[in-house]
Amino acid sequence: CGIIGYIGERQVLPVLLEGLRRLEYRGYDSAGVVFLEDENIRVIKVKGKVFNLEEKIFNNFPQKPKAPGLGHTRWATHGEPSDENAHPHIDCKGILALVHNGIIENYYELKRELQEKGHKFNSATDTEVIVHLVEDYINQELDLKTAFFSALKRLKGAYAIGLISKENPDLIMVARNLSPVVIGLGDGENFLASDIPALLPFTKKVLFLNDGEVAILSKDKVEIFDLEGNKIERTPTIISWDL
Ligand code: GLU
Repeated sequence: CGIIGYIGERQVLPVLLEGLRRLEYRGYDSAGVVFLEDENIRVIKVKGKVFNLEEKIFNNFPQKPKAPGLGHTRWATHGEPSDENAHPHIDCKGILALVHNGIIENYYELKRELQEKGHKFNSATDTEVIVHLVEDYINQELDLKTAFFSALKRLKGAYAIGLISKENPDLIMVARNLSPVVIGLGDGENFLASDIPALLPFTKKVLFLNDGEVAILSKDKVEIFDLEGNKIERTPTIISWDL
């Protein structure tokens, strides 16, 4: 339902939580965040409200949360609202973490295929197949970028996706098909969100992604590609309203 993502030098959790609060108006049943801690993927997620997530974060007391990070508010379509089904979802080895808005229509076939290859699933969501699919391509010796593009080409349905990898901590992978994504441009930092209000406290300079496009974010750069890997030039838009 709602996505926020951040790469840069700020404290990552306040950015993610502020973004999630600004997406609350859309309605949701669970919330979660992922960030790096001591170079590991750390996920905290909960059924309920952003307030409940803040409580859980407080009780788990992250010591050194670092960007890149992603946050999600979920409106369940596949799998009941629960802690396990809340996003982010991780791969078998805990290297990748992913948030997703939308519906993967061919998730059942993909899930069967991946289970036959030995992938263990921790949720009943359609979303979790995406992160295992990327992992599967990485297992075939593809780099993160190629694995991400290869996985996207297998998906049918609607998606806005944010993905991070502890092995590529300088990147956030983003994709869009039939679910909105906007990239927020900063100075030595970049953002992504499913909706403009989540970005407005941080930047008013944005890039809109179109269907079938991928964005690769680093602190200093945003690159946009089509699914074949061809680079696309996009002029930033300045948002002129306050919220
Ligand atoms: N289909 C996914 C799920 O049920 C994502 C739902 C959403 O857009 O929040 O977890």
